[in-house]
Amino acid sequence: MSQHIVPPSENTSTNDSECWIGSYFRDCIENNEQYTPNVQCDEKVQEFYRTLISECGQQISLQIVECDNNARAYYQRRFNHEKQVEERSIIVCKNHVLEEKDLNEVLRHELIHAIDDSPKCSTVNLRNLHDRSCSEIRAAYWAECGSLLRPRSNTEPSKVHYQCVKHTAMQSVKLDHPFELVPESVKRMMWKCYNSKIRLNSGD
Ligand SMILES: [Zn+2]
Repeated sequence: MSQHIVPPSENTSTNDSECWIGSYFRDCIENNEQYTPNVQCDEKVQEFYRTLISECGQQISLQIVECDNNARAYYQRRFNHEKQVEERSIIVCKNHVLEEKDLNEVLRHELIHAIDDSPKCSTVNLRNLHDRSCSEIRAAYWAECGSLLRPRSNTEPSKVHYQCVKHTAMQSVKLDHPFELVPESVKRMMWKCYNSKIRLNSGD
């Protein structure tokens, strides 16, 4: 999630990366298939999308663009003045998302932000430092650090996973907040947001 959004590049013919990312979104997410012709769909991505649509009542679109910074993806909410509606999208940087594993990771990550940004499912304000820390903790839990959740012993979640989440969340929050405030905020929110449910607000 970031304020710095790269506009979709005009006039690009469909290439391979655009094609497989687009077909993933259509087959795995919109049509809820188990696999596309090229890749296997990720159950968590599907679960988060269902939660967003059915429980949080939020629509979201996918944009596949070329990015000129290091980002792999963004979540964006903006007001469309022409249509007078708020629009939410996940923007995937096709030049930095080259593999199935990366795509699953970024979609898990941005879908958690989308859920946290839904009034029906949460009360957080992603522009607020502590709330942002919370959302980044939740996103890292399933996305960047998700593979560490696989049980290796009976003691779960592991210390390694916990450290991974804390470290990854700090890096993400630092993109938009003063460096010196971030470690304390993330540490403070870990107890509340690590291991939280998919919806922060479980009531209707
Ligand atoms: Zn994030």
